[in-house]
Amino acid sequence: MPKPPPAILPYGRQTIEDDDIAAVTAALRADFLTTGPLVERFETAFAERVGARHAVACANGTAALHLAMLALDVQPGEVTIVPSITFLATANCARYVGAEVVFADVDPDSGLMTPDTLADALKRVGDRRLRAVLPVHLRGDVADLPGLGALAADAGAVMVEDAPHALGTTMTYGNVTERAGDARHSAMATFSFHPVKTIATGEGGMVTTNDAGLAERLRVMRSHGMIRPAESSEEGADPWWYEMPEPGFNYRLPDILCALGLSQLAKLDRFVARRRALAKAYETALAPLAPLVRIAAQPPWSDPVLHLMCVLVDFEAAGITRRQLVEALRARGVGSQVHYIPVHRQPYYRARYGDLHLPGAEAWYARCLSLPLFPAMADGDVERVAEALKAVLGL
Ligand SMILES: *Cc1c(COP(=O)(O)O)cnc(C)c1O
Repeated sequence: MPKPPPAILPYGRQTIEDDDIAAVTAALRADFLTTGPLVERFETAFAERVGARHAVACANGTAALHLAMLALDVQPGEVTIVPSITFLATANCARYVGAEVVFADVDPDSGLMTPDTLADALKRVGDRRLRAVLPVHLRGDVADLPGLGALAADAGAVMVEDAPHALGTTMTYGNVTERAGDARHSAMATFSFHPVKTIATGEGGMVTTNDAGLAERLRVMRSHGMIRPAESSEEGADPWWYEMPEPGFNYRLPDILCALGLSQLAKLDRFVARRRALAKAYETALAPLAPLVRIAAQPPWSDPVLHLMCVLVDFEAAGITRRQLVEALRARGVGSQVHYIPVHRQPYYRARYGDLHLPGAEAWYARCLSLPLFPAMADGDVERVAEALKAVLGL
């Protein structure tokens, strides 16, 4: 009998434990399956954890981005700036409201939008109205928020941080240590609780903000655009009355999933410590593979909780293609992934905006590979990944 292939170590995966399951079971036995008391409890706990005044839970990270566009009332024909190295949703949310996307280039070694690449993108906005700049905290490292924020403000735009990779990350600008999602430099920050993200609810998302007005608009647009007028008004005295000034969506996160979110959030410190320990182990284990394989560059202000262990591989010098490497790693039980194909190269955006040349994004894409990183990895797994890389690269 041929040997069965080794179990594949995925690039990311959730950690669901017995108490998470018990929390969901309890929510299933309670009175509310969807909007109940756990939604607000999850929001309050999340806001406190990231250091923002308000948090609004929603159906997923894509809905969080869409809600952010709706809360800002971004109009058709207005512009948002998005780095090309991100997940599709960061760009798509602008199209949901009819806005146009200007793709910013990224630093080729960190994958992050920088003040220089933002300045270049600003030149391409032309005389259209720029409404929002959406930095992405790729891998878990946070962009230069003060630098980007100053440029955005000069251009009359606000920032919306797409922060799903950075839950738990801290950053120190000057002498001030801040938390990813505290929205000190931005109007809002968005999160996702997809199973590969730092905490998981299956599908799930969150928007954080310090602006009570934006939080209220997010809540209204999350549930069909329905409001209850003041009880002092004629109709407001009727207990069944609601009004819809403009149509919203059903982007609610059910109580069942908020129960899981609360249970997961209570473990965040443990997940953070484990991800940091694994990242450190990777630094040691991958050091001998330089310069063929290097870990993506970490900006000096960032103390990340890495969501992704992105390495940059010099495929030409290694004499191997990425496809060959991915397949050879897989044959040794090591999964990997590419984050991301530059969004400006997607057929939809090429058809809409033509062929852009963004050399930083192209250089990042040509070299990047995400290696397994998730809290349930065994201590020996990092070493196993490094050994597999060495063997395949002939080091
Ligand atoms: C995961 C992710 C999203 C989308 O979140 P979903 O919950 O999958 O909709 C958006 N942006 C980034 C950067 C992400 O990593």
